[in-house]
Amino acid sequence: MPYSKVTEELIQKLKEIIGEGNVSTGGEEKVRLACDEMPNPKPHPPEVIVKPENAVSIAKVLRLANEKRIPVTPRGAGTGLCGGCVSIKGGILLSLERMNRILEIDEENFVTVVEPGVVLADLFKAVEEHGLYYPLYPGEKAATIGGNIATNAGGMRAVKYGVTRNFVLGLEAVVPTGEIIQTGGKFVKCSTGYDLTQLIIGSEGTLAVVTKIILKLSTAPKRREVLFIPFSNLGDAIRTVPDILRHKILPVGIEFMERDVIEIVERYMDMSIPYHEHEAFLMIILEGETEAEIYQVSKQVEGICQKHGAIDTFVPASEKAKRQLIEAREKFYPALKSFGPTDIVDVVVPRSKIAEFIERVKVISQKQKMPVVAYGHAGDGNVHLHPVGKDMDKDEWEAKLPEVLKDIYQVGASLGGMISGEHGLGFVKKNYLPIAMDQNLIELMKRMKKAFDPNNIMNPGKVFDLGYE
Ligand SMILES: Cc1cc2nc3c(=O)[nH]c(=O)nc-3n(C[C@H](O)[C@H](O)[C@H](O)COP(=O)(O)OP(=O)(O)OC[C@H]3O[C@@H](n4cnc5c(N)ncnc54)[C@H](O)[C@@H]3O)c2cc1C
Repeated sequence: MPYSKVTEELIQKLKEIIGEGNVSTGGEEKVRLACDEMPNPKPHPPEVIVKPENAVSIAKVLRLANEKRIPVTPRGAGTGLCGGCVSIKGGILLSLERMNRILEIDEENFVTVVEPGVVLADLFKAVEEHGLYYPLYPGEKAATIGGNIATNAGGMRAVKYGVTRNFVLGLEAVVPTGEIIQTGGKFVKCSTGYDLTQLIIGSEGTLAVVTKIILKLSTAPKRREVLFIPFSNLGDAIRTVPDILRHKILPVGIEFMERDVIEIVERYMDMSIPYHEHEAFLMIILEGETEAEIYQVSKQVEGICQKHGAIDTFVPASEKAKRQLIEAREKFYPALKSFGPTDIVDVVVPRSKIAEFIERVKVISQKQKMPVVAYGHAGDGNVHLHPVGKDMDKDEWEAKLPEVLKDIYQVGASLGGMISGEHGLGFVKKNYLPIAMDQNLIELMKRMKKAFDPNNIMNPGKVFDLGYE
């Protein structure tokens, strides 16, 4: 049965469920919500936008959509990078922006209970006021916790703290047939049935709408240091990383970058980065409890880097300078986007294979005559690549891109890697999934999707196609 179109009658029913002012069908908002932050987006406006305030109304919307077979796409802040929150099949766009309350900060159990539309910046501030700390930092502070959960977001602090799924203790969610489910709880151990919390995390809004989240908290470290270390080539920089970890040093983050991206971000931010004339860099972020402890670890890291050919070590002298350096790293993506047509790849490979992966990508880049800029999370194997079309005809770049991407994903898979380490597949990367994932596993996932969503109404056309979108 094909999807139904949104009718006047359905809009009326939606208004009855969530209030007239929280249902819209046109105007500026429809344009704004037609894309996310992925590069080169083609707009997909929804037929109707709804902004519910609680799980009960979401359950009613989903029951209605399921009965009529209308696609429903959940949306957080729209900062995703693969079109996950875009209504590619039309239908209902379900914005979680009104569900943005921090319901509880439980200092005894070190947990917080939040609604999915809470943005990261607000969560950081709120828990800090209670002397607590949410250590994850998936790059974009405007993103919502619901979006972080749906994509299993990672970011720069994964070496020490892990990724979003490591901080989620439980969820409330509404499944496409309209039932409200609770998974997990305010406890850290559980051997009671299947772990549906972890199944829903990273499912990109294809299995359920997350409506409440129990997150684990921690206490903030007292000191943070940033080391910026230039090398004469990227191979030396990356090969240093396993040695640092072998010495039982656990930085919060270890980022690598090439000169190209430093030049681009300097221009974008109108700033100068120390040692920018060198070929490759590591940015190492350390945390510690005392000045003496962090000084001692910094010296140890410096020594290891020197052994691997580091040219020098830059340690910013003030908190402001540290912040500026980290901010420059955070701006790589917008800087590259402003530089010319580009795509973003976030392949993950075993940490020990990063250097080989990038060397092989450079060969692809030369063969295909398309520059590929590389940077990423050296500490966890997550490599960001930007095939850029600067000085190229845009149509020519676009025509060539799928072949370049296929080659890159094949190399990543051959080294034991996966298509996406943190951004998800959305609709733009779904066709590459069989390159890295066994068909039996994909088929099993499709059967699980059908068990949650027999009519395929939840974010259809994302992650994989079922064949009846
Ligand atoms: C400058 C920049 C830097 C970034 N850096 C990083 C980074 O370092 N690491 C990283 O991991 N990501 C990064 N991102 C990507 C992005 O911020 C994350 O993917 C984030 O998790 C998306 O959150 P969002 O609220 O914007 O979700 P959206 O983009 O709105 O949605 C993303 C997905 O989540 C689903 N979804 C949203 N809310 C719900 C819900 N309540 N229930 C079910 N499904 C839901 C959507 O359907 C969609 O599939 C970056 C993005 C930008 C623009």
